[in-house]
Amino acid sequence: MDCGSSGQTKNSVSAAIISVGDELMLGQTQDTNAKWLATQFTLRGVVVREFRTVHDDLDAIESVFRELSARHDILVITGGLGPTDDDLTREALRRAMDEVEPLQVDAQALAALDRWFIDRGRPMSANNALQALRPKGARCLTNHLGTAPGLYATIGRAQIWCLPGPPREMEPMFELEVAPHLPRAVMATAAVHSFGQGESFLAELLGARMARDRNPLIGTTASGSIVTARIRAVDAAADSAAMESAMHEIEQLWTPYAFGRDQETLAGALGKLLILRGERVSLAESCTGGLAGSFITAQSGSSAWFAGGAVTYANGAKIDLLQVPNELLTAHGAVSAPVALAMARGCAALFKTQWSASITGIAGPSGGSETKPVGEVFIGICGPRFEAVKQFHFPGERASIRDRAAKAALALLRFALLGHEAFAAPMIWESKKNA
Ligand code: ATP
Repeated sequence: MDCGSSGQTKNSVSAAIISVGDELMLGQTQDTNAKWLATQFTLRGVVVREFRTVHDDLDAIESVFRELSARHDILVITGGLGPTDDDLTREALRRAMDEVEPLQVDAQALAALDRWFIDRGRPMSANNALQALRPKGARCLTNHLGTAPGLYATIGRAQIWCLPGPPREMEPMFELEVAPHLPRAVMATAAVHSFGQGESFLAELLGARMARDRNPLIGTTASGSIVTARIRAVDAAADSAAMESAMHEIEQLWTPYAFGRDQETLAGALGKLLILRGERVSLAESCTGGLAGSFITAQSGSSAWFAGGAVTYANGAKIDLLQVPNELLTAHGAVSAPVALAMARGCAALFKTQWSASITGIAGPSGGSETKPVGEVFIGICGPRFEAVKQFHFPGERASIRDRAAKAALALLRFALLGHEAFAAPMIWESKKNA
């Protein structure tokens, strides 16, 4: 669930975005206008509550104008302003405004069209002149980059802005002709990211704070096993102290899973803790083949706290590089808690770091057995006066098992740095069988 999708924040200005055109319905054109406009509105504190896509049909466009103008403050429509028979936005607007008079020629728009063609040394066809028509009660908006003027009108309390379909014409028209006339509201957005629990569990912890009529409005999203609380506030609640307190409250409720805000990453959050303590980490990776290390090295400045990693895939590499005793491998198998711990110990010694993590598991799709199924992963953590192994059973196919295992190793390192209580917090996919 996302707070950006359907939230009804009290007292906010509400907008709807309408995209017109058969080519959108046929899948020939991707509706990038709606996304761009939604971003512009959000930046200006206007809440977009509805998207519509309508085919080139007069009745359909008229009825969308009527329906949406009854419940929103602002409608922005893109497309259908060109010179051909399937460009119907002008006429649909006239009908929805209940005007009995036919469309009228806008003298200024016609002169601008004339000039546009003269400047390019081309004759203006009769069709093109149709673009200078407007409903009597509407006004034309200048198109600096094309021929179709936009239109502005009101229906009841709603402002109606009709803009051309091509993004290179629509975007400057929005910025120059529409944005200066929009009602302004203060809006702030923020995000708190977490790893280690599922979205429904974390949403339950937020409880009534996620009610859809709250300001700030809080929703959750999940992507790549990171669950994020998205906060959107308007007016007084958008004040920086109020936003700080909303984020702090979520972080408290999501302890220890919440690792950072806005652009923060798991690796970045781990790095901050290590820098504070002046300590470094190293990694011994088997089934993740360096993925955890690549998350860390994607972080600029990580050389200050990351010494390096060993990809010890074969048993021989575990023995030679990490000094894992051969007997341990024979007795328990490479995917086991004792081997994970020995890998982490050997890794800290090899790289001379205070902290280390090891990852050994079965990423599949082959290689699993009844006792050690695909998705079984052991993660070992060593640190000053700290040694522990956790066992996981990650669902999914090879890529997501590897991704989850690499992220879990970074999260466990972070928990271990926070202390025993944080490390003991239950994680989704954790299995207590053999760890
Ligand atoms: P024109 O004067 O160019 O005919 P128009 O206002 O009539 O402008 P349309 O004919 O509906 O606009 O669309 C023209 C072109 O604009 C489309 O072929 C497409 O490339 C682009 N376009 C239209 N709508 C969208 C949209 N929602 N998102 C992205 N591109 C769009």
